[in-house]
Amino acid sequence: MALVGVLALQGSFNEHIAALKRLGVKGVEIRKPEQLQNVASLIIPGGESTTMAKLAEHYNLLPALREFVKMGRPVWGTCAGLIFLANKVTGQKTGGQELIGGLDCTVHRNFFGSQIQSFEAELSVPELASKEGGPETFRGVFIRAPAILEAGPEVQVLADYPVPSNQLLGSDSSVEDQKVSVETESKVIVAVRQGNMLATAFHPELTTDSRWHSYFLKMANDIGEEATSSLVPVEVN
Ligand code: GLN
Repeated sequence: MALVGVLALQGSFNEHIAALKRLGVKGVEIRKPEQLQNVASLIIPGGESTTMAKLAEHYNLLPALREFVKMGRPVWGTCAGLIFLANKVTGQKTGGQELIGGLDCTVHRNFFGSQIQSFEAELSVPELASKEGGPETFRGVFIRAPAILEAGPEVQVLADYPVPSNQLLGSDSSVEDQKVSVETESKVIVAVRQGNMLATAFHPELTTDSRWHSYFLKMANDIGEEATSSLVPVEVN
């Protein structure tokens, strides 16, 4: 099994590595651009997206991360990782935040409010249901979580969440944010796939349910096989 990189600048990278280990897969901490050459896929953990972006800038990782995504390598962003992967970010304190980009989504940071408004919710995720009739529900852990407000035509929605009206944006939201909530339907997107990119607004690495990690590993494997099979065989004389 190919090595999986886990961006280890900040946030829940240890938890992702532990989740991969439970599936018998080695997660490799990524802190330098050249380390990306040793891994076939990458997980960007949850944490704090502005801090992560600043550290990525500091370690000159942004060009290599953008290249990794553009080359079609499998990448999964959880929570802050989702924000970091998005093409557009709205919500409070987003000014000047560097993004990797690639994911054709508009993401609202801290959509559900501040830390104390963190919550868990049962999500319906048909993609996670097993052929043997295993459940399609997944308990999502949302911590200062973002939400996807708009997704482009190539984005496949894997899960959405019907926001109760009293949960629409936290109490610390600005007037600007409130305007967004009024214009937004009460259902928000919380998990998507777009080609080589997977993104979840919640934290599967903080649960013992490994299905999202298995889903990503299968996705990465399928992409790897496609890439290999599309190579034109070279005739050797
Ligand atoms: N809201 C956080 C941010 O903007 C993300 C929270 C998380 O990753 N748990 O980065």
